[in-house]
Parts: sequence; structure tokens; C-alpha cells
Amino acid sequence: MSTYKLVCPCCNSSMRIRTSEGQTPCFRSMYSECNNLLCGATFSGSLVWEYQLSPSGIDRPLTVLPMAPTKVRLLARRNLATNTTQPDLLDQLEMERA
Ligand SMILES: [Zn+2]
Repeated sequence: MSTYKLVCPCCNSSMRIRTSEGQTPCFRSMYSECNNLLCGATFSGSLVWEYQLSPSGIDRPLTVLPMAPTKVRLLARRNLATNTTQPDLLDQLEMERA
């Protein structure tokens, strides 16, 4: 299992997602807390899927997002090339739903 490294905006320590709730297929509300006991800040936020970088391979996908504009695709290519060991945030979200 891998977890995406969330960083507390108050103290730069790691944070964990306490819970999350899917509002739509592309929008999820999340609640997190700082792992630093001396800080202990908690947050609410969201995860939003905005674009597709590539189309789904299945016949009738449940959701089809707009294809990413060139600027977003170039940024994604750069980020994916430099963060090949970056864990997946969704691993953590999936684990919390189980
Ligand atoms: Zn903190």
C-alpha cells in the first residue's frame, strides 16, 4: 500500500485523510488531520477530476471528461516523468472506503 504525501499547510508535517465522501463521480469531499501532535490542525477540502489525459478503454464509460488542453497535458507529462515513484492518493481513499 502506498499513500500520497499530504503536507499540513500549518507546519509542513505529514497529514492523513480522516475520511472522504464522493459527491459526484468527479468530486470528492475530504477531511484530513495533521500527524504532528503538537499541531493537530484539521482541514476540509476536495479532490476534483477536471480532464482526461487519455480516453477509457471500456465501451461505454460512466463518465467522460473533456480531454486536457495542451498546457495541462505538458504539465502532466513533466510531473509523471519526475514522480514515477509518487504514490497514488486514490490508494489511500480506496483504503478508507473499505
Ligand atoms: Zn500541522
